[in-house]
Amino acid sequence: MKHSIIASLIIGGIIVSGFMSCTSAAETSHIPAVSFSESDGIFAHRVGQFEVFMLVEAQREGNTGIIPGASDEILERYIPADGFNHSTNVFVVKTSDQIIVVDTGFGNTIFEKMELLGILPEQVDAVLLTHMHGDHFGGLQKDSHPLFPNAKVYLDSRDREHFTVIAPNQGAADALAAYGENVETFDADVLGSTYREILPGVSALANYGHTPGHTVYLIANGGDRLIIAGDFLHVALVQFPHPEISATFDVDQSAAAVSRRQILEYAATNNIPIGGMHIVYPGMGDVEADGEGFKFIPKR
Ligand SMILES: [Zn+2]
Repeated sequence: MKHSIIASLIIGGIIVSGFMSCTSAAETSHIPAVSFSESDGIFAHRVGQFEVFMLVEAQREGNTGIIPGASDEILERYIPADGFNHSTNVFVVKTSDQIIVVDTGFGNTIFEKMELLGILPEQVDAVLLTHMHGDHFGGLQKDSHPLFPNAKVYLDSRDREHFTVIAPNQGAADALAAYGENVETFDADVLGSTYREILPGVSALANYGHTPGHTVYLIANGGDRLIIAGDFLHVALVQFPHPEISATFDVDQSAAAVSRRQILEYAATNNIPIGGMHIVYPGMGDVEADGEGFKFIPKR
């Protein structure tokens, strides 16, 4: 696929503009030489030749009420007295020939942040959904019009079935309806098996529990890897050290706890960094086994 992109960025008073005709790996992986900071809510990371961007879509004060299984002792140990932040993130992956968005947040700031990256919604080839909750599909459509008009939407067949048939959610149904035939469902691969690629360099791994079809995406290029793990956890401060604690949002809390531990073990054992939709900036980091749980080392 070819993209012709007019990139025009105004950052820190400096105007950077240029015409990029992207027809090769080297050209497409070119991002204007602008660096981002926490105040932009954008964190840039590289997976081989792929450019990965974590965008903070929304941020608010964290609430431990969503993890009722955490004891007072655990909360006192891991939660700072002055509170903590909760983030909602999306990810953008620029491969050699595609622009891929992973989840769309609420549809709050995703588009202005993509503009900072020089990406127009029309240029997005694929939107991968980790699952069908409103803080993940919220940016897909407005007034029944697809906000990524040229994109195909991908999700696990179990989530489509659950949120449109078994426990119908109007917002989820509307989000998918806006894309008509351009919705592709898959059955995610079992963790630890050989993985098919749903797009070049992208595999879908089953992480069922948070929702029936909750999926994490393995991004791989040039020997580098990254797992974009959606809602595998919601309160990182507590759930990395205590993955057995689930959140009230988890549709099947015990299955979610099993899946959470599995993906953390997989990331730690294979030295694969992990990103999450509710991990505060930079939204991704390395994972190490630590006693009965795990330690998270944010990327810098
Ligand atoms: Zn979520």
